[in-house]
Amino acid sequence: MFYKEDMEIRPEKGQIFVITAPSGTGKTTLIDIVRKNVRGVGYSISHTTRKPRKGEVNGLHYYFVDGVEFERMIEAHEFVEWAAVYDQLYGTSIVSVNTELSSDKDLLMDLDLQGAKEIKRRFPESLSIFVLPPSIEVLKERLKGRSPSEKIDIDLRMKKAVKEIQGCRDYDFIIINDDLNQAAREIEAIIIAQRANKKRRFPLVQKIFHL
Ligand code: ADP
Ligand code: 5GP
Repeated sequence: MFYKEDMEIRPEKGQIFVITAPSGTGKTTLIDIVRKNVRGVGYSISHTTRKPRKGEVNGLHYYFVDGVEFERMIEAHEFVEWAAVYDQLYGTSIVSVNTELSSDKDLLMDLDLQGAKEIKRRFPESLSIFVLPPSIEVLKERLKGRSPSEKIDIDLRMKKAVKEIQGCRDYDFIIINDDLNQAAREIEAIIIAQRANKKRRFPLVQKIFHL
């Protein structure tokens, strides 16, 4: 992976949360709910070479770019991390991360396992959340139901999912997305609890009580 060593990333402003799940688990749906329910949660908008799905908006869900632009960004070291996922390229730009973190927000990053590993390596204090479906059968149904018109290889994704699920043991938190609201509440609880972490809260306490 390439990144610009001389560009400052400012993780101290807020907590980074990386969320990973096999495709179709419900991660995008959960992130939308959590961001509506918890204030001060930023989201790093990734760049991708894949085409937008129905309802996806450029600059909101992703920056949809072509392969030439993506390669240019790699060459210019504009990514914190990037990876090839299902024959398409996905990457998190340094600008996307800094825009969100610099405004004193927590940051959610939606990454595959490769990206999650890279972010943990670069920012050991980041927290990782793996979202699981309640079963393999349910995952298959959700994948089929998500965008029936999209030509995706369900069998390929299912095989990949089974392998990816093994990786959940390397994550800090594991959520089972059976009941959507319950799963969202668990993610919200993780984010909110982290704001009371001593390291994060103590500067404020010092200010109030002149410690
Ligand atoms: P991902 O981003 O992980 O690929 P999506 O958020 O696109 O997955 O969700 C895949 C499909 O599953 C969507 O049709 C979504 O509405 C549905 N879904 C997500 N979570 C649940 C849930 N807990 N129960 C039932 N359906 C769900
Ligand atoms: P989708 O095409 O379904 O939106 O995403 C496919 C996969 O790419 C998901 O596992 C998602 O987490 C991952 N992904 C999305 N953006 C990035 C990114 O910027 N970097 C990496 N490494 N993975 C990403």
